[in-house]
Amino acid sequence: MKFIGEIDLANKTVYCRCDYNVPLDENRNIIEDWRIRASLPTIRHALGKSARVVVISHLGRPKGNPVPEMSLAPVARRLSELLEKEVALLPDCIGDEVRSSVKKMKPGEIVMLENLRFHPEETKNDDAFARELAAGADVYINDAFGNAHRSHASNVGIVRHVAECGIGYLMKSELDYFEAALENPVRPFVAVLGGSKVSDKLEAIENLSKRVDKLIIGGGMAFTFLKASGFEVGCSLVENNLIEAAQRGMDKAKEKGVKLYFPVDAVIAQKPAPGEANMIVPVQEIPEDWMGLDIGPASTRLFAEVLADAKTVVWNGPMGVFEIDAFSRGTYAMAHAIAETHAMTVIGGGDTDAAVQKAGESENMTFISTGGGAFLWLMQGHKLPSIEALERHESSRG
Ligand code: ADP
Ligand code: MG
Repeated sequence: MKFIGEIDLANKTVYCRCDYNVPLDENRNIIEDWRIRASLPTIRHALGKSARVVVISHLGRPKGNPVPEMSLAPVARRLSELLEKEVALLPDCIGDEVRSSVKKMKPGEIVMLENLRFHPEETKNDDAFARELAAGADVYINDAFGNAHRSHASNVGIVRHVAECGIGYLMKSELDYFEAALENPVRPFVAVLGGSKVSDKLEAIENLSKRVDKLIIGGGMAFTFLKASGFEVGCSLVENNLIEAAQRGMDKAKEKGVKLYFPVDAVIAQKPAPGEANMIVPVQEIPEDWMGLDIGPASTRLFAEVLADAKTVVWNGPMGVFEIDAFSRGTYAMAHAIAETHAMTVIGGGDTDAAVQKAGESENMTFISTGGGAFLWLMQGHKLPSIEALERHESSRG
């Protein structure tokens, strides 16, 4: 698989798949532009090499219809501000009008095509659509890590129809940091998992168990494991159908010699709502009609000790319902503890990223992934379909 730096871009029309699926408010202002900023190295590189740059992306879930609220117009405007350069938004991503506009571009110019998902063929990885999308492209660069676990036309099908293909700077750093952590970790390697659902993360636990030295499990998902270990956890979030699987997960981790850590105390309330009365109890003492909504101070202390000698840390999933102040301390303390280690720290997951930002620790992490779903996919030990497509493309060229 090629990196953009190895491909001659001069005077070429370079289609660059970015993940500009940014959150918008009700007035369609961009709430968080980190994904747009993260694409700048690739775009600047291509423009600097006198390419004609055509950016393609999806936004939201318009389900195959042209939904004006999901136009990429705000993204094109922001990209234009960041580049200090005009970025015209073309009215569609395929069709004659688009093709002739792209043909008229001069080297060093950039345009954005309209939301790929205005066409139902995009998410179906339809080959005719992929061919049409690729019609004007000399080079295809995939920099959309956030979408890399999907098999869509713009990141899988398109590769068959473009002569030169490769990855951009963002995709490369995502893959490099992930590999450095998971394939080649400096030890001790500690993984921290949290969030709400065990079902999302059991596979990741299984895969991580083959690689890590220590595994910390917090957040809502910890209660299914605590229940499996014989604790009564009140009305905390428990996935009853997964208790056995959780038990097996713990057994496997122990077989591999992984040290497992769970919360020893919890901040509990009767509802996950602001202003609810709350208290801190050992996990053995959660009353029947109360639920654990954050890890308590003893767990925070324990987890900080576990992390103290770490040389590699991967973190996905908040320790509590951090969206509510009363249940946010455990997650912020975790962010501080991870930031303070002398480890390489790799953070993944949309909510975890938001929590690290709120804790003011973003600058103190080695790498924060831009892709929640794709990051989890990698943690589960799967290959990314968009990367496999690029690898097939290279090997077919011999
Ligand atoms: P990420 O987006 O970083 O991958 P997840 O989506 O898996 O993280 O989990 C985040 C969600 O988990 C948050 O909305 C948070 O409120 C919830 N959560 C964390 N701890 C608990 C808990 N004890 N009970 C219920 N929900 C929880
Ligand atoms: Mg999430």
